[in-house]
Amino acid sequence: MKNIVLFGPPGAGKGTQANFLKEMYNLVHISTGDVFRFNIKNATELGLLAKKYMDEGDLVPDEVTINMLKAEVEKNADANGFIFDGFPRTQSQAEALDAFLGDKGEQINAMVALEVPEDVLVTRLLERGKTSGRTDDTDESKIRNRFNEYNTKTAILKDYFDAQNKYYGINGVGSIEDITKRIAEVFDTL
Ligand code: AMP
Repeated sequence: MKNIVLFGPPGAGKGTQANFLKEMYNLVHISTGDVFRFNIKNATELGLLAKKYMDEGDLVPDEVTINMLKAEVEKNADANGFIFDGFPRTQSQAEALDAFLGDKGEQINAMVALEVPEDVLVTRLLERGKTSGRTDDTDESKIRNRFNEYNTKTAILKDYFDAQNKYYGINGVGSIEDITKRIAEVFDTL
């Protein structure tokens, strides 16, 4: 099984790239942001809870997010492997994921990180906000808060995976196609 964390700040292109890579490598793509948005759309209890945090650009609490992620993995018991997009975002989430996969005799094979400068990200997010309908993409102060969450809670995960020799940084600036090729070069070595 191949289990990959697709990593990077908001707007780095994780979702876009995951959509290509899941087809190329026959992997199940789990985006925690997408699962939250699906729950918000369907007005579930989880959606109502998550919305409060997401609208502000804050992270949803770990326990809620971890339980949701586990349930998504369990739904795909026959998968060939997973692309985790937007998860883990904290040290506790990373530890929970390692323990959860470890219990199944599985592991994370790599963290593939899209590296993009912050000014490029803000431009991309504001552009996406024009069509995505995402409130967290339209307000620059909320975007800044998402970066703040990323920088204070998520960025450290680079060290977490680096310490396991599993961190692969990719230049995330360029055409979508070129970036897919760069990521594929790493996937092919795993
Ligand atoms: P994304 O679609 O990955 O940009 O996520 C959108 C929002 O969903 C984030 O700003 C958080 O509020 C929430 N979210 C998604 N994934 C996580 C996670 N792993 N931990 C906490 N909150 C998350």
